[in-house]
Amino acid sequence: MYNKTLAELSQALQQRDTSSEELTGMYLQRCRQFMDKLNCFVTLTEEHAMAQARAADKKIQAGKAGPLTGIPMVHKDIFCTNGIKTSCGSRMLDNFIAPYDATVVRQLDDAGMVMLGKTNMDEFAMGSSNETSYYGPVLNPWDPDRVPGGSSGGSAAVVAARLTPMATGTDTGGSIRQPASLCGITGLKPTYGRVSRYGMIAFASSLDQGGPMTRTAEDAALVLNAMAGFDEHDSTSANEPVEDYTSQLENPLEGLKIGLPVEYFDERLNPDISRIIHDGIAELKKLGASIHEINLPSSKLSIPVYYVVAPAECSSNLARYDGVRFGYRCDDPRDLNDLYCRSRGEGFGREVKRRVLIGTYVLSAGYYDAYYLKAQKIRRLIRNEFQQALKEVDVIIGPTAPGTAFKLNELIDDPINMYLSDIYTVSINLAGLPAISVPAGMLNGLPVGMQIIGDYFSEARLLNVAHRFQQATDWHQHQPAEYK
Ligand code: GLN
Repeated sequence: MYNKTLAELSQALQQRDTSSEELTGMYLQRCRQFMDKLNCFVTLTEEHAMAQARAADKKIQAGKAGPLTGIPMVHKDIFCTNGIKTSCGSRMLDNFIAPYDATVVRQLDDAGMVMLGKTNMDEFAMGSSNETSYYGPVLNPWDPDRVPGGSSGGSAAVVAARLTPMATGTDTGGSIRQPASLCGITGLKPTYGRVSRYGMIAFASSLDQGGPMTRTAEDAALVLNAMAGFDEHDSTSANEPVEDYTSQLENPLEGLKIGLPVEYFDERLNPDISRIIHDGIAELKKLGASIHEINLPSSKLSIPVYYVVAPAECSSNLARYDGVRFGYRCDDPRDLNDLYCRSRGEGFGREVKRRVLIGTYVLSAGYYDAYYLKAQKIRRLIRNEFQQALKEVDVIIGPTAPGTAFKLNELIDDPINMYLSDIYTVSINLAGLPAISVPAGMLNGLPVGMQIIGDYFSEARLLNVAHRFQQATDWHQHQPAEYK
């Protein structure tokens, strides 16, 4: 049963082949069995889950169930959950019990989903390997010596290990797509503003976006139906109509124009990854798509621009953790200054401090114009180039990540190379576009993801292309041997 997709589980529940209580019990049992090995959970919410499952079963019996009613899931520990610890992977929030639910949490709760727990993540979502978490690294289910990617590494690992059919993630520069690629699952980063950020702990507010992490594009569509929508609590939430994201899944791909950015496929791309992505594109060609070369010349600046903009916003957002109102407070402060300095010094980890320092620097009076303002201008160029390209093609395809899952400790002391793991993903956040990563091949026993990027609010199209690809291939069905 744990091998079924969310869509299959939904059907099984509707046909009364199983109950939510039974499913929830089975997944909780798997979570308990594997959670220490993978270090994938910060909190397992067993009683809460069983209560939600019983309520879901009542709804099903009363004929009031929707497609997600009774389906188990997990939240990345960045989403506030009322009355439940919400740590954001940080010592700073290790003692934080959220006093309210994030909009995404409420939406999935209203849809009848059952929360099994909260997943481990890079501290404040800053990282690409899950090694910056206060709770230690998450291990990749494909190989315990390797990272699952980050920052939504716990969420990616639990879906890959079949401990849940679905997890939420957040993506500021690649944190849904890159771990999805490294763990062999499907991860969708929606258009900026499509999914509410209310109650999603802020890292870089102009880039942050929540989305679903699932086994298949069909499952992602089912979940996005519940997650998408305008929210008056989020001032950058998009007031655009919500489509039924499952309605276009089966559309044929005849006539689809695919853009291949020359810059993504240059000599720096690992030839094995290049071959896998080209094989993936060949599958789409067989389904009727045509291929067009496009140029995104400013994309080479996306990492430096991101590492000015994201730290700037992070330094501002994280100023609220001062040891006064909530979160970690140091013991016996001498005075107010000591309280601030030691609470922040002891509460934050190294990577978070590095970002706060960079951010404070680029926003300071003498450097604002030289760094922050300049970065914002290049950000606009990046966005314009994507918009131009997307007038000529329907979707843009490339790799999700430059390689497969790397070894634990391989990059943790090499921040530049760690930052480069998001080289193909950050520009999409800078532009605010939607993109999905789907499993597209295997390299030395490790999964490789292919990224499909679309125009603003074209999630239905992306899911359609991804779904058709998954009907034609079986990469999304590969699973780590130990978790079969
Ligand atoms: N790896 C990138 C970073 O460290 C992106 C993280 C994210 O998307 N949350 O900032």
